[in-house]
Parts: sequence; structure tokens; C-alpha cells
Amino acid sequence: MSKNCLFCKIASDKIPATIVYQDDRLVAFKDINPQAPTHILVIPRTHIATLNELSAADDTLVGDMVRRAAAIAKELGHANDGYRTVFNCNANAGQTVFHIHLHLFAGRPMDWPPG
Ligand code: AMP
Ligand code: ZN
Repeated sequence: MSKNCLFCKIASDKIPATIVYQDDRLVAFKDINPQAPTHILVIPRTHIATLNELSAADDTLVGDMVRRAAAIAKELGHANDGYRTVFNCNANAGQTVFHIHLHLFAGRPMDWPPG
């Protein structure tokens, strides 16, 4: 756990969130400022600041994050109509919370390329 990290605090129940899934390695919760009818963040319990800090030892963890986002999308009925998953990394991508998180957006059509 990183002391001043918002998502470490959510993962350890120190600040509240609307949690939709959790296990020993991952937590998924509703984004506080949703950009789509469904906007969920999937995070690892372990603190990793950005994608740049990932190592091969994290491959299973990241795979689990992606498969969990797909499972949540399916549970919410979005497997066929579609959804988007996004990892933002650093300033140009608009990363604001430096604990990796996979955004899951669904429930509306989305433009491409993103802004
Ligand atoms: P990013 O810009 O990729 O770093 O995304 C960070 C996301 O975290 C944004 O979509 C925020 O709306 C979301 N967020 C910030 N604080 C909270 C919070 N306390 N609970 C849930 N989501 C949050
Ligand atoms: Zn953290």
C-alpha cells in the first residue's frame, strides 16, 4: 500500500466506493464521475503507479484485470452491444490517479479516435 494513494485507500476500505467486484487481488468499483452509463474501474490491490512500472511478474495480474472487466461487462449485458476498456498512462493520456486502473465504459456508442 502507498500511503497517500486514493486507490490503495479504496482497496483497503479506508475510503468508500461503490464496489461491484472484489477478490484477493482485484477490486472493481463505480467511477465517481462517470463518462458513460456504465463506468467502472478495475484496480489491483497492489500499488503500481503507472503501466511503465509493470514487469513480467505482473502479466497474470493484468490479464486478470482485463478478463474481469470483460466479465463485468458481460454480467451487465454489454457483451454484444460492446464496451471500451482504457488504461491511461501519464500526462498526455490524462492519468490523474497514479495507481493503475482499467476503465470499463459501456452503455452508449463511443467515438474513435478518442479526444
Ligand atoms: P485517470 O484519469 O485514468 O487517472 O482516471 C481516474 C479516474 O478515477 C477518473 O475517471 C475519476 O473520476 C476517478 N475517481 C477519482 N476519485 C474517485 C473516487 N473516490 N471513487 C471513484 N472514482 C474516482
Ligand atoms: Zn495505490
